[in-house]
Amino acid sequence: MKKHNFYAGPSILPEITKEKTAEAAMNFAGTGLSVMEVSHRSKEFVAVMDEAQALVKELLNVPEGYSVLFLQGGASLQFLMAPYNLMNKKSAYLNTGVWAKKAIKEAKFFGEVVEVASSADANYNYIPTGYTVPADASYLHITTNNTIYGTQMSAEPQVDVPLIGDMSSDIFSRPIDVAKYDLIYAGAQKNLGPSGATLIIVKDGALNKMERTIPTILNYQTHIASGSMFNTPSTLPVFACLQTLRWLKENGGVEAMEKTNIEKAAILYDEIDRNKLFASTVPNVEDRSKMNVTFVMTPEYAELEKEFMEFATANGMIGIKGHRSVGGFRASIYNAMPAESIKALVATMQEFEKMK
Ligand SMILES: *Cc1c(COP(=O)(O)O)cnc(C)c1O
Repeated sequence: MKKHNFYAGPSILPEITKEKTAEAAMNFAGTGLSVMEVSHRSKEFVAVMDEAQALVKELLNVPEGYSVLFLQGGASLQFLMAPYNLMNKKSAYLNTGVWAKKAIKEAKFFGEVVEVASSADANYNYIPTGYTVPADASYLHITTNNTIYGTQMSAEPQVDVPLIGDMSSDIFSRPIDVAKYDLIYAGAQKNLGPSGATLIIVKDGALNKMERTIPTILNYQTHIASGSMFNTPSTLPVFACLQTLRWLKENGGVEAMEKTNIEKAAILYDEIDRNKLFASTVPNVEDRSKMNVTFVMTPEYAELEKEFMEFATANGMIGIKGHRSVGGFRASIYNAMPAESIKALVATMQEFEKMK
């Protein structure tokens, strides 16, 4: 039976990414060696890194004056590196869930952190609006898509300070205005590649302004100066990311992704809203994520949760268990998820409804 991969991360990748990476695992760029066993300074691998960085710039329309890096340590290390490099004495954070809170915790090592707004009062099921950001904050940090809670910012907030964006779970899902950001970061394992690589887009002009001394490996400038090769990069994950970037370009780039992501998400949300057994956990329609669709059984049918989980699993639906802090279900429908898999989940929900 066909398996439909709804895992939140690591998560579904384009078929071509897996095929090309499997090939290169045995014979990379005609070297007769595995991509895992060639020097990161070989001309073949340097070409991979260069093309990956160039494609990120092209696909996201990155303006002049920004650097693209592929580092390790995940988004979690960026929670620390971001304030280390960019927070003077004060910064502002929008608290939209667990990942935002972890970012706030690290920033507190460097000075005053203003939590401009929080949706903790409703278990993070909405994106707060109508807050003000202190003019003397170095930046406002946002989580553009909240993987756990199924919320997503529909647009960048209009503020007078630079933005920092944790885009781990929606990078390349839609166009973004990079010029509004001093820093964008994303762990690869949600929409780009395997875990082990972290994508960073940083504004060169925002760096080198801190009074503090920044340890060498935590300084973005170290990595910019060495072309992401200050230490050995995660070669195989970066190779895989490149395959996804090529796939993105061949499939119309982020504009085309946005269009299909809107259509794909609508298929599932329409069914959740229609089906008497299920309800969305995000009441505000414009806050609903197009990447992670969270839903629960309606109160009348709450006792059917376990049964639906078993039924869905038996029908090939993998990874739809909701995060423990939200419960219910979560279908992660990243760029690589075909509409057919979403339709298969919808068919499973309809079949289950008929049985009840
Ligand atoms: C998964 C995720 C993280 C954590 O990423 P790691 O690479 O595991 O550090 C951070 N932020 C968001 C929004 C995520 O989805």
